[in-house]
Amino acid sequence: MRKHNFSAGPCILAPEVIAGAASAIQNFADMDLSLIEISHRDKNFVAVMDEAMALTKELMGLGDDYQVLFLQGGASLQFCMVPYNLMKAGGKAGYTVTGTWAKKAVEEAKLFGNVDILGTSSDANFNFIPKGYSVGHDLDYFHCTSNNTIFGTQMKAFPTCEVPLVCDMSSDIFSRQLDFTQFDMIYAGAQKNLGPAGATLVAVKPSILGKSGRSIPSMLDYQTHIDGESMFNTPPVFSVYTSLLTLRWMKEQGGLAAMEKVNTAKAALLYNEIDRNRLFYGTAAGEDRSDMNACFLLQDESHAEVFNALWKEAGIVGIHGHRSVGGYRASMYNALPLESVQVLVEVMQHLEKTH
Ligand SMILES: *Cc1c(COP(=O)(O)O)cnc(C)c1O
Repeated sequence: MRKHNFSAGPCILAPEVIAGAASAIQNFADMDLSLIEISHRDKNFVAVMDEAMALTKELMGLGDDYQVLFLQGGASLQFCMVPYNLMKAGGKAGYTVTGTWAKKAVEEAKLFGNVDILGTSSDANFNFIPKGYSVGHDLDYFHCTSNNTIFGTQMKAFPTCEVPLVCDMSSDIFSRQLDFTQFDMIYAGAQKNLGPAGATLVAVKPSILGKSGRSIPSMLDYQTHIDGESMFNTPPVFSVYTSLLTLRWMKEQGGLAAMEKVNTAKAALLYNEIDRNRLFYGTAAGEDRSDMNACFLLQDESHAEVFNALWKEAGIVGIHGHRSVGGYRASMYNALPLESVQVLVEVMQHLEKTH
């Protein structure tokens, strides 16, 4: 039996996706060759890249004013590429600091210019999303993190801005319906809702590029990858192909509306139990709770040993909290079935009945 995989990332993928990826490793596109031993310029792989780019736009409702790219270096390289490409020499960008990843993004941006912190929840161990700030016209861009994977908070709305809006969506991309056209650039490491580590999805409006006045090394210049259609150099073929399988799977399930429906149901089921069960409490502010990563603690740490044994016995993996929050974190990405959350809730109820 497959485990109930609540891992924060890399994380669960749909069984159909795993099966399709395994089969392409053996024999890709009936070529009697493995996906990982052919040229990325082969027409069968070029078709994969083209379909992955097109499906990304289709699922997010993005038009021809956006370019989709599959890059390498993880979301972490985007922390550097964003200011490199978008911040003017001696310029200034706005950031909100809502968690560990946002903090890292700020550190990189500071290497290129000035950073205005428009809001932060660092004094409260990032347990809420700052609101009520305004994004000034004088900024080169504004950067935010839609979902804070470690602290379990999620932005439910985004500020209106007249400067380019850039969002790190690594841990909730494709999880809900949003007006994605409000963003000028979206990026996400593949390994949380899309595929194996190795590819980073970028959707960018080319119209915001080319204004920094800097010389940018080719590999770090978005324009290079736009011109090369994500094939400037060898792309991470396995990650891109597996991501395509997930994109197809999401479309078959009914697209982002269907993803959101199941994700909302899973989150409601677990948060209701966290709030109801007298042995547990949640760490994130109610209105900012993430539908993807739910962080919770035991009221009494002395129950940890029994609880840990119970969930392991139930086939659950990956719910230990990040060291900066402690306790538990249940990550409920798209491919996690509702039944897995049901199993976790039953374990929590069993603990309550017997303690
Ligand atoms: C995981 C994560 C990252 C880091 O991604 P890498 O691909 O490992 O660099 C960045 N931002 C967020 C929000 C994340 O969840």
